[in-house]
Amino acid sequence: MNLPLVGKYALITGSSKGVGLAAARLFAAQGARVVMHANTAVDAARAEAEAIGPQVLGVIAADLSQAGAGTRLFAQADALTGGRLDIVVNNAGIYLANELGADDEHWHRAWASVLQVNLLALADVSRAAVRAFVSRGGGSLINIASRAGYRGDDGDHTAYAASKGAVLALTKTLARAYGKDGVLAYALAPGWIDTRMAPQNAAGLAAAKSEIPIGRMAAPDEVAAMCAFLASGACASATGACIDINGASYVR
Ligand code: NAD
Repeated sequence: MNLPLVGKYALITGSSKGVGLAAARLFAAQGARVVMHANTAVDAARAEAEAIGPQVLGVIAADLSQAGAGTRLFAQADALTGGRLDIVVNNAGIYLANELGADDEHWHRAWASVLQVNLLALADVSRAAVRAFVSRGGGSLINIASRAGYRGDDGDHTAYAASKGAVLALTKTLARAYGKDGVLAYALAPGWIDTRMAPQNAAGLAAAKSEIPIGRMAAPDEVAAMCAFLASGACASATGACIDINGASYVR
């Protein structure tokens, strides 16, 4: 069996479900020690961690909508590894609508929530990770952005698209600035992934699939596989890249 992640320590945010859970399972299966993170579904995440086995060092509860939570999350996760984290997958995110026609209060609240969870918390985790990686000779940062960050989204998701576009710029900047210190930083830009974030009703599902030439959404396992490949260091020269995972629905 190929075990490219043996000896590595990974924090995967938002790993109680969806892409994050798929990544936690795969990273552990590939030999990494994994720190999982959950927001409200902590019991579910603990049950998943137990099912994965001793490769999971713990599950940390943190609400990333709270200012400073990202910095604390990295510190707690790093402590669980004895200061050896060398992979971070920033996966947690929300897909919150902010319609142009909403009242001002709703509009501003939605923007603040989306930017806090999708961008500011991710930036805090990234900052803490890069500082630690620099001090210990290197590490890999994988930030889950979105096709919306390049292409834009529908009119109800301006904040989501803007947050993901900013994640792309942040990731590229870290890759350029800290590559000399052994820091590798990648962004992923998935189109629809088959998780609870994707459309759940028949009409929405059909509309989503109709724009994807291969006729289906990406599976969470596919996104996890890309994370594992990048985290393995097998293609360090791809640092700074943003990898599309969208079934050719948006070819740049
Ligand atoms: P999901 O809803 O199943 O998972 C999102 C994760 O984020 C959950 O684990 C959740 O607990 C966590 N999260 C949400 N709010 C949080 C908060 N306040 N504090 C801490 N954690 C919080 O959806 P998913 O599809 O697995 O999403 C994973 C990533 O992929 C997200 O960044 C999302 O934006 C991105 N993405 C998803 C799709 C899609 O179609 N599903 C498409 C493109 C990008």
